[in-house]
Amino acid sequence: MLSLPDLTEQEREEVRQACGFACVRCGVTIYRYLRLPDAAQATLLCPTCHGLVEEGRLTAAQVHGFHTNPVVRQRHFARDRLPFSPELPMLIIGGTRLLRDTPIPLVLDGEPIMMFAPPRRSRGATRISLRMGAPDGSPVQVINGNEWLPTDGSWHFLLRGDRYSIMAARGEGLAVLRIVARNRIAVEHLRTTIRGRRLEVTPDWLEIDGKRYVDRIGSGALVGLEC
Ligand SMILES: [Zn+2]
Repeated sequence: MLSLPDLTEQEREEVRQACGFACVRCGVTIYRYLRLPDAAQATLLCPTCHGLVEEGRLTAAQVHGFHTNPVVRQRHFARDRLPFSPELPMLIIGGTRLLRDTPIPLVLDGEPIMMFAPPRRSRGATRISLRMGAPDGSPVQVINGNEWLPTDGSWHFLLRGDRYSIMAARGEGLAVLRIVARNRIAVEHLRTTIRGRRLEVTPDWLEIDGKRYVDRIGSGALVGLEC
């Protein structure tokens, strides 16, 4: 399936609305904009479901079927296990306090590592962005407002239980976000190195260049911690 980098913001909004703000097959809220096989329309598929199409394990007819009847619109779909919240999520990260109203919890060497925003529309999903270090230490935007950007296989995405796992194909880059409730996300594990600065984060502590801190991230600010 063809990826669609040239869609306008208006077209993207229409695609998201049509698909229910998630992968049409599985409901994961991290996705790519893709052209439906043999059609002019665009759809949303998460990296995993897109991989199934690329491997020939999902047919064009099946993809059309999912697009016509997106999983998030089906009655059995459990919205609560995924980040469909109208509010900015509370974060469990780096210490004992719940982090509230902090859209950018961490900035490393001038790079916003994670960014969270409430959805633009009701029924939409929490907007998640992720910026990580490539194997050479340069920053790379992996997810931008829920859009999965890597097209060269340099990063992998996996939904495992209630966790979004994002892993570098090479090197130690890793981000595991657990959807505890739809408006509560735990940073279960994150590690990345940007320009030689190393960051590792768990729900209980964070390490910057090998030094460990607890409760260092400020709550209720645009940026929680610059390091
Ligand atoms: Zn999917």
